[in-house]
Amino acid sequence: TLGTRHCGSTLFRRIYLENCVFCLIAEKKLDSQIIYEDDISLAFKDINPVAPFHVLVIPKKHIRSLGDVEDFNLVSHLLYVCNLVAQKEGLTKGYRVVTNVGDDGGQTVFHLHFHVIGGRPMDWPPG
Ligand code: 5GP
Repeated sequence: TLGTRHCGSTLFRRIYLENCVFCLIAEKKLDSQIIYEDDISLAFKDINPVAPFHVLVIPKKHIRSLGDVEDFNLVSHLLYVCNLVAQKEGLTKGYRVVTNVGDDGGQTVFHLHFHVIGGRPMDWPPG
């Protein structure tokens, strides 16, 4: 049972992380179509693409959103990977990178990710 000793502590955090879908993908416990990987990041195809090309770039480490980032070198690296996958996929006419933060931002998976979307012209403003 979850005694008061554990609430808000290590056990609680472990149960939460074990259920984070992108942590499971990063640990290869859940299948995904991976298109790039290195020590600290992973890029894989979005399960519900909104464009012909839709990839998610995530840190392997669990960070809730851009709002919780402490190490902005990591963000630099993730953006580098966004451009790398876009180039690798030949998106020469351009692409879009988006990160949703929190409820008003439309975030639904609370593990930092950058959407790389392309293969068609984009609308502006977004909804
Ligand atoms: P958000 O709404 O948080 O900005 O984006 C979450 C994205 O994750 C959505 O585009 C959604 O389609 C994608 N997604 C959710 N669950 C899975 C999954 O299990 N596998 C993959 N590949 N993508 C997922």
